[in-house]
Amino acid sequence: MVWTQNNMEAVLWILAAVVFMEAFSWAIHKYIMHGVLWKIHKSHHVHTKGVFELNDVFTAFFGGSAIVLILLGLPALDYRFWLGCGITLYGMLYFVLHDVLIHKRLKWFGRPKGKFLRAITDAHRAHHSTKERDDAVSFGLFLVPKRFYRK
Ligand SMILES: [Zn+2]
Ligand SMILES: [Zn+2]
Repeated sequence: MVWTQNNMEAVLWILAAVVFMEAFSWAIHKYIMHGVLWKIHKSHHVHTKGVFELNDVFTAFFGGSAIVLILLGLPALDYRFWLGCGITLYGMLYFVLHDVLIHKRLKWFGRPKGKFLRAITDAHRAHHSTKERDDAVSFGLFLVPKRFYRK
């Protein structure tokens, strides 16, 4: 593959989407999910039976947005296509880290050993230390407070 300016732009759009998604999902989690849509998100903070929980509608929403962007951008292979790819990449990382590594919805991994994976796991566990709407901490997945990086 030849490294053209178009490749460069594609990578930048994908990275932009990943960074944006972390910020956007942090804000949505803090202000909407722990706000007006708490009724839906609560299913993720209490123990639920079965494979799925009501909170998964958020995953479906983000997945749907990514598919729409990819389809809109497909004919011209423009920025919408790459943004859709970036959202998909973020969604996959979110699934592997949040749903599999942290919540063990699939039994793929044991306890993480690396500093970074431990930090985001502990930070998200701290987020789940409450079942209430208003006293949760640490709403991001990758961006977590420094104190979770132990020596
Ligand atoms: Zn939450
Ligand atoms: Zn969680």
